[in-house]
Formats: sequence, structure tokens, C-alpha cells
Amino acid sequence: MLPGLGRALMLPVRTGSTGWDRRGWSFLQCAPMQAILEAIQAGASGDDIGNLPIPESYRAAFVKRDEQTMWEGVASEDKDPRQSLHVGEVATPELAPDEVYVAVMASAINFNTVWTSIFEPLSTFGFLDRLGKESVWGARHALPYHVVGSDASGVVVRVGSAVRNWKPGDKVTVHCNYLDDQDPSAHDDSMLAANQRIWGFETNFGGLADLALVKANQLMPKPAHLSWEEAACNALCNSTSYRMIVSKHAGDLKQGDAVLIWGATGGIGGYAVQYVLNGGGTPVGVVSSEKRASLLREMGCEHVIDRREAGYQFWKDEHTQDEKEWRRLGKDIRNLIGRDVDTVFEHPGRSTFGASVFAAARGGKIVTCAATSGYMIEYDNRHLWMKLKSIVSSHFANYKEAWAANQLIAEGRIQPLLSKTFSLEQTGEAALAVHQNQIEGKAGVLCLAPEKGLGIDDPEFRAKVGEDKITLFQRFSA
Ligand code: NAP
Repeated sequence: MLPGLGRALMLPVRTGSTGWDRRGWSFLQCAPMQAILEAIQAGASGDDIGNLPIPESYRAAFVKRDEQTMWEGVASEDKDPRQSLHVGEVATPELAPDEVYVAVMASAINFNTVWTSIFEPLSTFGFLDRLGKESVWGARHALPYHVVGSDASGVVVRVGSAVRNWKPGDKVTVHCNYLDDQDPSAHDDSMLAANQRIWGFETNFGGLADLALVKANQLMPKPAHLSWEEAACNALCNSTSYRMIVSKHAGDLKQGDAVLIWGATGGIGGYAVQYVLNGGGTPVGVVSSEKRASLLREMGCEHVIDRREAGYQFWKDEHTQDEKEWRRLGKDIRNLIGRDVDTVFEHPGRSTFGASVFAAARGGKIVTCAATSGYMIEYDNRHLWMKLKSIVSSHFANYKEAWAANQLIAEGRIQPLLSKTFSLEQTGEAALAVHQNQIEGKAGVLCLAPEKGLGIDDPEFRAKVGEDKITLFQRFSA
């Protein structure tokens, strides 16, 4: 048993009136969690929920410190998150004054959980150790295990003594910008804060669990017309795309702007398409199959490139790029929209960056937030400076941006991209599917929610927004 872990890891699954329930909880251990779930499902008052005991341990998905070197010498694509992501009981951390406990009804897989689970490009235990040295409260995070997950929907069950705007019983979603608001650098765009972190990636106690520890300034109201899993899948990717496309801090989209979007039915790409369409722009979506191309068209994206069909070979070999192939992409874009794109929504990194810099129009920009295929990127600087293009970096979103993005979901103007839903026990399987590029949109994860489709409080508004629009990705991947 790892020191610091709850009493039982990898509990066996048994049903019946005694012993273990279907989630693998022992009734003795899970009685408080069961009571919380029952209270939520019964619509108990906030006061009643706030008076329930907080369990001493809870079920969570985590990686282990003593396994962080398990894949030395193994290629990324051969690393299987099912082997490194465990689901079991962990001890409940103490609550700081500016924090709340959220009973997590549902969560989602983000690519950062894939990075954590394959220990690339770094083991995330280094992040936890650094946080552990910052303060007494930070020390709680440096543990032999890392509870992952950077999205959640659920119900506030307890608030710290300094929390003003939230109370037990509030239904919430959680964004992942985690910062120290006593640091002056956190106050003119909090993404510039010296100690800005991503919750559940650079901190412990993330959302892929039945209970999560979050700062009060990560909370946002749950969109009432969505189920728990539809509400849980948005915050990380939707807020990231909001900043990359809409916010003055990065994309600053104007009406009429054309935007090349790589991975246009992926987690961030699918929200980017919606933001470009909503903002009066022209998305040119790139995907890798006819199936995804037709999904994109159903989203209203008229201009679609199937990169697999096009067969671009931007790299001739590991060291040499092929400008002819960049030109071919540029020509394909011009054939579709009659001109170059003003912005490139860039995240694949090494495999596409040279082409992205080439494809942006004179004076255009390449907005980048990631490098899935490799972070040592290469581009021809002549195409950048001679045509006065700029590379704009973007990372998640500040609270105001995340709130605005959540509000657009709540108003039915941006749709959730949930496609498949997994159980918490299947976290490794879900992460593997994301790692292998098998998921359109988002993979949701049910935590406390016993089944899909629960948590819809405003069915009338849901009908007004349109079931077909809300469930497009779910229907598509069914
Ligand atoms: P995702 O759901 O897996 O979607 C990524 C899409 O990119 C895939 O669907 C794939 O679409 C496309 N793609 C993958 N490899 C490619 C390649 N070599 N060339 C061209 N297209 C490629 O992942 P995601 O959630 O959208 O995240 C994408 C990246 O952004 C990840 O690296 C993630 O860590 C990062 N990210 C960063 C932030 C931040 O705040 N900085 C936030 C969210 C995500 P097709 O195969 O259909 O083309």
C-alpha cells in the first residue's frame, strides 16, 4: 500500500446488500458518499446537503509516483493509459478557506490526462512537488499518487470559511485555471500569473473522481438544460477555444475572418468551429476521415479538407520539410474560399506548424496552444517576417473568459461536444481512445452520476435549443 493512499485500492466489484456495491465501494466506506448522491438525486436543500458528513476517502482515477518511469524507452504511441491510470480510494484532503468540495457527477477526458498517464513530456509529480513547496496548503498536493482530471460538473457540498459566492447545493461546472490570487502577477490577465496552474494536471485532487477539491474561483453555474456529462465536458476545451478565437488576448476574431482549424471535430477544434461561425467568420476545417468531414458539414462548416485524402507530406523525412506540400495546402484553401486564411488555429505542432505559418495570409496570425505531434517545431521564418505574420501563444483562459464561454453554453449558443460516455472505472480506456485519436469531440466520464442523461433541470430550454443540436456528436458516434 502506498503511504497516503486510502485504505482500499482497486476494490473488487460485487453487488448485494452487504460488502461492495456496483462501483466497487465498500458500503462502510461509501455510506457518506452514497448519502450525498441520494441527497442530490432527491433534490435536497443546500442546507441539508451542507450538513452531510464528508467521507474520509473517495473513489478517484490516479497515476502512481512509483510507476512514473514504467515506460522508459517505450514509444509514445505504444504507451497504454489503461496500465497507468488506476481507480481506487484516496484520502480526502483537508479543505482550505478559499476552497470547496464538489461532489462530482461527471467529468471528461482531456489530452492533459493522456500526457499525465504516459508521463510525457514530463511526469506530473514534478508539478505536484513544486506546488508542495509553496505553502502549507500546497503541501497537501505532493503525494505518492496524482488524482487527475481537469473538468467536472457536480454539486458543491462544503465551502471553506473564506468562500462568499457559493454555497452547498449549488450546481456547478469547474474550470481549470488554478492560481494564487494573493500574487499581484495574477491580476492583469490571470493566465499571466507567475504561479498559474492547470487543476488536475499541475495540481492534485482533480475531477476524475467522486469528490474534487477546487478553489471557489474555479466555479461556474452548471447550464441547466444539459445532463451532468454534457455539462462536464466543456470547460477546458470550450474556454481554451474561446480565448484562441474570440478573446482580445489571442484570436480577436473579426466578422469575415477566415480561420484554418486543424482537428476541427476534435476537443478544442469543435468549439473553435462554433466560435468562428457564431462570430461571422469562415472556418476551413481540417479532419482525417470522410466521417468527420460529414460531421463538420452538419455543424455548418462548409469548407472542409480531409487531410488523409489530401495526403499531405509536410515532412519529407524526420529532418526536412517540403515547401511544395505547404503550397499545396495553401492552394487547397484558396480553391475553397478564394483567398488565404487570416488565422490558423494551431495545436498539432511539429507535423503542421511549418504549413500553418505558410498558409496564414499576409498580416495573419497563427494562434497556438499545443504541440500534440512534437514541441520542437520548425518553420521558414522568411514566410513569417516578409509577410508580417505573427505567432500568438494561447493557454487555457482566465476566469472571465471561462465564464463567458460557460455562459454561451448556458444560453444554447455553443453546443457541448460530448460524443461517448465512459464510467470512472473506464478512465484508462477513455484516455487510450483519446490518445489514439478515436474520439470526435469529447469523451465524458460518469463519476457519481449512476447513468447518462441525468441532471437536466430545464427541459423546456433544452427543447428550444434543440435536442438534435445538443446531441449531434453523441448521435454521430453512436
Ligand atoms: P483531440 O480531441 O484529440 O483532438 C485533436 C485533433 O487534432 C484530432 O481529432 C485530430 O483530428 C487532429 N490531429 C491530431 N494529430 C494531428 C496531426 N499530426 N496533424 C494534423 N491534425 C492532427 O485533442 P484536443 O482536446 O482538441 O487537444 C488538442 C491539443 O491541444 C492537445 O495537445 C492538448 O493537450 C492541447 N490543449 C491545450 C490546451 C491549452 O490550454 N494550452 C487546452 C486544450 C488542449 P483529425 O485526425 O480528424 O485531423
